[in-house]
Amino acid sequence: MRRSEEKALIIGAGPAGLATASLLRRLDAIVFEEHREPGVPPHCTGLVGHGTMLFYKELAGPRVVEQRYNTITYHVYGEKPLTLRWEKPVAYRLKRPLLEQRLRDRAEKLGHRVETGTRIRRAWSRGVEDDGGRSYRGLVVDAEGALNRIAVAHGQERNRHIYGVQRIIGYDGEENHIHVFFTPLTPRFFAWLVPLGGGEALLGYAEEKPGLIDKAVVKHVSREMGIGEPRVKAMYGGLIPVNPPGRPVSRGVYFIGDSASMLKPFTGGGLYAISRLASPLAKALEEARPEIYIEAAEKLLAQLRREHRAVNMIRLIGYHRAMKLFTRLAENGLEVSAEDYDQHQRVATKALILLLKKPWILLLPRHRAGPANTPQDPSRET
Ligand SMILES: Cc1cc2nc3c(=O)[nH]c(=O)nc-3n(C[C@H](O)[C@H](O)[C@H](O)COP(=O)(O)OP(=O)(O)OC[C@H]3O[C@@H](n4cnc5c(N)ncnc54)[C@H](O)[C@@H]3O)c2cc1C
Repeated sequence: MRRSEEKALIIGAGPAGLATASLLRRLDAIVFEEHREPGVPPHCTGLVGHGTMLFYKELAGPRVVEQRYNTITYHVYGEKPLTLRWEKPVAYRLKRPLLEQRLRDRAEKLGHRVETGTRIRRAWSRGVEDDGGRSYRGLVVDAEGALNRIAVAHGQERNRHIYGVQRIIGYDGEENHIHVFFTPLTPRFFAWLVPLGGGEALLGYAEEKPGLIDKAVVKHVSREMGIGEPRVKAMYGGLIPVNPPGRPVSRGVYFIGDSASMLKPFTGGGLYAISRLASPLAKALEEARPEIYIEAAEKLLAQLRREHRAVNMIRLIGYHRAMKLFTRLAENGLEVSAEDYDQHQRVATKALILLLKKPWILLLPRHRAGPANTPQDPSRET
């Protein structure tokens, strides 16, 4: 039964806001979205691990899971590429903005309102005000995404960002095979090539000042892949927060998703934390007990904060240098499983144990990349 006197006011119709609304059964919600259509313009690659995929598939239906990948090649600058292949998919691609559309349908079927073209300019602990000066009373959830203006007014840290840039290009390589590129061009992140199926792929990268390196990254990826100058069909991008997660509840407002930087720090994946936190948040709102959400969120956020500390060190030395160690370990017994996709701390722990057992791995030489080594060449695979 709904508590008719109460409402949830959710700022932002991204995955965080819409997943939360579509889990609310005992409380009415209004989701405010400044754009005309949720999820448009797009920015995200949509890659997630198995558990995260199951969460969104359950909520939004099987069609949002567009692609499965069981092979990843790591191209580390100056080294022979390393290809890891799994029997089952290790990563999935969720189709956005179909994800937002399906979550919106579900929320509306439950009786919630999604107010598109409505920008919230101000929020307080028990209400919000839109750009037209209309105010609404209720429990406030800030799911405004990476540019967290409202969050800052409620005591959260202003997000620091890197910029992700993606191109849809023509591509006829293996459809279940992701490539990631670690080079001095993107020392604080990496570049990627993710097949979309149907003769297309996403070629993307993220860095602090993408304009300066854009052409060089595209050239590097094309050369590594042996694909010539890519045929670009579309281009888009967005902000990826790089600061540690903030608080789940601050000054009476609930936070979920990028608005409080709840991302996996190494890859910038935000869909994972949302999948873990939307249910406890919905429960806390329905029962008007913030402690339910705070307890669930703090467990996950403590983990993400630890990962942040490790990733900050990696950023200092450069992703491309840190990944040299990873490829050596992976060639010498480090087992990376499908579950590790969303749980990077598991890889770190396994790496540490392996290094304690076999410290001489650090001294092993690796073959440097040669021009004959193309990713399609199986002789490159280990
Ligand atoms: C290039 C790139 C690639 C990425 N790839 C991946 C990936 O492969 N896997 C992964 O897990 N994550 C990825 N991410 C991150 C992922 O996209 C985000 O973590 C995720 O979208 C966060 O969801 P959200 O709902 O918190 O925010 P958003 O998706 O940003 O949604 C926030 C919504 O709030 C609206 N809004 C903002 N302010 C207001 C306001 N004042 N009033 C009304 N509406 C407002 C916005 O218009 C937006 O629709 C990527 C990000 C980028 C930039």
